[in-house]
Amino acid sequence: WSPVVTVSRSASFKNALVQDYHITSHTMSVDVCIVGAGLSGAVIANRYANETNKKVLVLDSRDHIGGNCYDYVNKYGVRMNKYGAHLFHTKRRDVWDFISQFGTWEPWEHRTLAKVYTADGPKHVPIPICIPTVQQLYDPDVKTEQDMLEFFKNETKDINFTKPYKNSEESTLARFGRRIYESFFRDYTIKQWDKSPERLDASVLERIPLRLNYDDRYFTDEIQMLPSSGYTSIFEDLLDHSHIQVLLGVDYLKHKECFKNIQTTIFTGPIDGYFADYNYKKLEYRSLNFKEENVELERDDDYVLPASVVNEPSMKVKYTRTVEYKHFLQQKAYTSTLVREYSSSEGDPYYPVPNDENRGTYKAFQELAETETARERRRVCFLGRLANYKYMNMDQAIGNALDHWEDWKRDWLQVCDS
Ligand code: UDP
Repeated sequence: WSPVVTVSRSASFKNALVQDYHITSHTMSVDVCIVGAGLSGAVIANRYANETNKKVLVLDSRDHIGGNCYDYVNKYGVRMNKYGAHLFHTKRRDVWDFISQFGTWEPWEHRTLAKVYTADGPKHVPIPICIPTVQQLYDPDVKTEQDMLEFFKNETKDINFTKPYKNSEESTLARFGRRIYESFFRDYTIKQWDKSPERLDASVLERIPLRLNYDDRYFTDEIQMLPSSGYTSIFEDLLDHSHIQVLLGVDYLKHKECFKNIQTTIFTGPIDGYFADYNYKKLEYRSLNFKEENVELERDDDYVLPASVVNEPSMKVKYTRTVEYKHFLQQKAYTSTLVREYSSSEGDPYYPVPNDENRGTYKAFQELAETETARERRRVCFLGRLANYKYMNMDQAIGNALDHWEDWKRDWLQVCDS
């Protein structure tokens, strides 16, 4: 098929940044334009190319594929995630069956420690809260599930909130009591979201469970994996198809006119960016800034931190957590790069902010999205975390794209049959 955009596709997508591209307005020979080469975009591109004969053009404004999952090996030989640590875990067998076809994966059970300041100085304790956390901070005699139930009954005895909880403050106080709420959750959340938990949906803090046992893993899903050669190589495999063209460094919204003849557009960017002309209220997002520190080690199997991720739930520091990437899959290197994460309202959108106000604003955009196909007289869909303004884990983004694909395929087959 003749590319509609003059783009030289290099052997490796890593080098596929198109410096000097020329977009013609004749775009008829592309069937599907996918905006965004992150998880949602790459999964849906893969399905179109493999299950239909359609020609797919994937665009991304960044100079690499992979969205926020993008990773690379730094000069010290450590694999780093450019946009924060990504840990794949899922309960959905269909999601795993799909994604595990790409690249190779290794089991990795993620553990996080929280640095909590006590009268005896700082302590690194497991989060989510489990028996070892309670033993190390509050009561060494708590040893069984029954002990935990009694401990938390006492911690929450003065809390009168009942389900359904109205916000994250209520749900966290009701589950953990005030002492743990203040030590682990309140200030971390204020740093992360620039809001008190009272102004966030209960679901935000309900992401962190309370464990009545010794299980100190961050996630309990049966499937917990990391890609052996990094996430970027998984995206290379997902997009490696003769019917997929990838164009990097292109801002779709600036060049929208050039792609208007393509019969289907799947937009995975921020929905308020797509409808910016309407001048509706802006949706809120949180972004992250990263600060690196390189630490030399005596041995290549030494580490600086006691865990891959150390959360900072106090106001003593401005960052929310430190990631020591070398821990993941136990990489060997004589220099370890620590990355501190600072939450910010400026920069690339990472997290939608789940609360009533933003949900109300999103609803107006959602109504526009639902009628965009009719307005444009071509199919326009909105897919993924930013386009649907939903706080999604990786497996949810993959699952959502696969579900979207199945729905579309069912409709398409019906049209073909009739
Ligand atoms: N959170 C907290 N203390 C912690 C870890 C998490 O208060 O030590 C809160 C915080 O508001 C965070 C939310 O729980 O945004 C969800 O945490 P998770 O680790 O799932 O966040 P993500 O990995 O998506 O950044």
